[in-house]
Amino acid sequence: MRSTSKRINWSSSDMADPTTLLAFAETAAAIAGTSKKLEKAALLGNYFAALPDEVLAVAARYFSERVFPLYDQRTLNVGFAQLRDAVRALVPASDDEIRALSVRLGDVGDMVAELLARRPPPAPGWTLPQLQALFDELAATGGSKAKVQQLVAALTEWTPLEARYASKLMMGELRIGLREGLVEDALARLYGHPLGEVSRANMLLGDIGETAVRARHGTLSTARMRLFHPIKFMLASPIAAPDELAQTFAPPYFVEDKYDGIRAQLHKDASGRLAIFSRTLDEVSHRFPELHSDARGLPGDLLLDGEVLGWRDGRALPFKEFQQRLGRKTVSPALLGEVPVVFVTFDLLYANGELLLERSLAERRSALERLPLEGSVRLSEIRVCESADEAAAQFEPARDRGQEGLMIKDPRSLYKPGRRGQEWVKLKRALATLDVVVTAVEWGHGRRRHLLSDYTFAVRAGEDEPTLLNVGKAYSGLTDAELAEMTEWFKAHTIRDFGRVRLVEPRIVLEVAFDVVQPSPRHKSGYALRFPRIVRLRDDKLPSEIDTLEAVKRLAGV
Ligand code: AMP
Repeated sequence: MRSTSKRINWSSSDMADPTTLLAFAETAAAIAGTSKKLEKAALLGNYFAALPDEVLAVAARYFSERVFPLYDQRTLNVGFAQLRDAVRALVPASDDEIRALSVRLGDVGDMVAELLARRPPPAPGWTLPQLQALFDELAATGGSKAKVQQLVAALTEWTPLEARYASKLMMGELRIGLREGLVEDALARLYGHPLGEVSRANMLLGDIGETAVRARHGTLSTARMRLFHPIKFMLASPIAAPDELAQTFAPPYFVEDKYDGIRAQLHKDASGRLAIFSRTLDEVSHRFPELHSDARGLPGDLLLDGEVLGWRDGRALPFKEFQQRLGRKTVSPALLGEVPVVFVTFDLLYANGELLLERSLAERRSALERLPLEGSVRLSEIRVCESADEAAAQFEPARDRGQEGLMIKDPRSLYKPGRRGQEWVKLKRALATLDVVVTAVEWGHGRRRHLLSDYTFAVRAGEDEPTLLNVGKAYSGLTDAELAEMTEWFKAHTIRDFGRVRLVEPRIVLEVAFDVVQPSPRHKSGYALRFPRIVRLRDDKLPSEIDTLEAVKRLAGV
């Protein structure tokens, strides 16, 4: 590969120490400076190669936008407010100025760097292990004030460039066009391993840092499953009508109800330790106390995939009722009685030392059916259908049972974490729906003129291509209370304010229903949804999980 002019020769004696925060920040800035994936990987590889093991582990996590390993549930709880207060202790800035800067730059790290550039810079000197010690301390500190004090002490010693990237790390986003997948790719190239081996070890270990060190020492293949960190969920592609099924894969079809709750992953070990993770990979165990004892009662070490949903008198509760159980820190005994939940499991990814996700769904299902599942941790029902018509005939009965529709799966398929393929498809309402992210908002009219009520939304260009392409605009579907709450959020997360219209941070995921998809020059995607309406806010989904242009094209019949 052509060497880039920006690449730094860490091994030459006059170069700075690669283990410093400055070296990390310079590498990050160089990576931000190129849009070419190969060049990013080369810059990263060049930097990683110069680091001792212990710092390599830290740097690999940082470039994956993590300050702790994934399996480590600690959080910094540092946000815009703490960084703003800390920087203001060193450089005076008015509220108006801060607001204007944050709108213009749209990034806290850039704002901190710009403000710190107003004072004479200290000499850079921090190392990455020192930065890690600060993160450990911040995670162990309770109050916001105490955190601000720790930040002030650090910012005093950082140059603007060091502060820019340390702040971005604390906010959880470097914004240099890297994802964990690209860090895995850089490691694979640097140490000469197939990418699949690096990703597999990372998935098993839940730590890109340890994975990096193993890649260096050639010990990826001896990595063993570590429970209690979330594994990315396998996802399904939408189909608009039952007759599309025949084009996806050949029978037999495993047909299950599409339960209307939230996706969840249940980890348990023989000692009785238990963790439930949500689709956004957050631990939610404490929210569902009624599942704990039945889950702990299962034999051995297990990792189950499934859906948590409201369940009463042998029947699923509508999502609206179940929703009361979400978004709360503590669940009152009254609510526990009113809206009881169950965990319906439909997949077994790991059991007692065996990594089942690398086996076919048919094999995984057999292993799942051998477990003594009962009470609040129950088995999903499946029907094995030999034709698309037979599968489609299950749709109405599923709706009658109060479910959202059907999930149809290929029994030959392996479990592919984080992938949305054609091996699992979902058939929902009679109408098609897409998951999209809001990119721009507009003030409403009449009664809604004080609300940012008109949403422009986008899909992703591709599964591995995060560019957002607008596909439509929706005006209705949310209640005034929801709109008012969203208006505040959008005001605080505006990237550019054009008066009537605001570009906003693409973080709010919606499920939109529509009649048909039509080709359209109006939107970047080349398509527009006809009569779109918002079905619901999907705060259980990340923007990285929304539908892609391919799904739009398929729904358009292209
Ligand atoms: P959606 O949230 O509409 O994208 O549909 C995919 C989601 O359906 C999954 O993430 C699960 O939360 C949910 N789901 C419900 N029932 C099943 C099932 N039987 N198999 C897989 N996913 C299911």
